[in-house]
Amino acid sequence: MTNSIEVKDLTLNFGSVSVLKNMNLNVAEGEFVVLLGPSGCGKSTLLNCLAGLLEITDGQIFIKGKNVTWAEPSERGIGMVFQSYALYPQMTVRGNLSFGLKNAGVARDEIERRVARAAEILQIGPLLDRKPAALSGGQRQRVAIGRALVRDVDVFLFDEPLSNLDAKLRSELRVEIKRLHAQLKNTMVYVTHDQIEALTLADRIAVMRGGIIQQLAAPQEIYNRPANLFVAGFIGSPS
Ligand code: ADP
Ligand code: MG
Repeated sequence: MTNSIEVKDLTLNFGSVSVLKNMNLNVAEGEFVVLLGPSGCGKSTLLNCLAGLLEITDGQIFIKGKNVTWAEPSERGIGMVFQSYALYPQMTVRGNLSFGLKNAGVARDEIERRVARAAEILQIGPLLDRKPAALSGGQRQRVAIGRALVRDVDVFLFDEPLSNLDAKLRSELRVEIKRLHAQLKNTMVYVTHDQIEALTLADRIAVMRGGIIQQLAAPQEIYNRPANLFVAGFIGSPS
């Protein structure tokens, strides 16, 4: 199977502090990998390195076989969804979905086609003319996912997209994200500190601590055969 993402000996220092330590990670095409670990272990930092939002200290990043270590974010063929919705409040949902495409010079009918497709997949068609303030938290997060969808990329990076939502919405959107992945078969790197989310969504889970992947394996494997006490304790105690 081809790798969609390859991280080779990645190190990221903030000043004298090493946040990611000589990390290696391969994500297969269409695979759903969850980065799971406590707050501060480097999950967002790793995602931001993949997205090109942080300059890495050492190592290499390949996306779909291409060395993107020094590529601009827009050249990496990835869509990112953040924890905070980061929608433009003055624009309608349609405006939020089309804005990046307009800037990238995508033709108008192509923008319309992609917005309509994303709206259908995410079931937000009836919301297209509303502004973010008129949406619920769950609806806003769907729009945020929609902004990644319209980019027509097949590698998605999600950074704790559900952590601002209440428990009921969280479990609803979890199902939604799983359905989306089954439908699109896109490559996913999904960050969470929520064990349940990791166990239900992942093909493989990378359990992180202190900038180091402690174990990378299928949920069952991690659950049944944790590599060390930290993994056992972290998986065994939902927060
Ligand atoms: P996580 O997403 O797993 O909660 P982060 O990747 O946000 O963790 O942070 C990992 C570590 O890097 C933390 O100790 C954090 O304080 C530190 N850190 C994150 N961003 C910066 C920055 N811009 N400058 C310095 N330190 C940072
Ligand atoms: Mg984070």
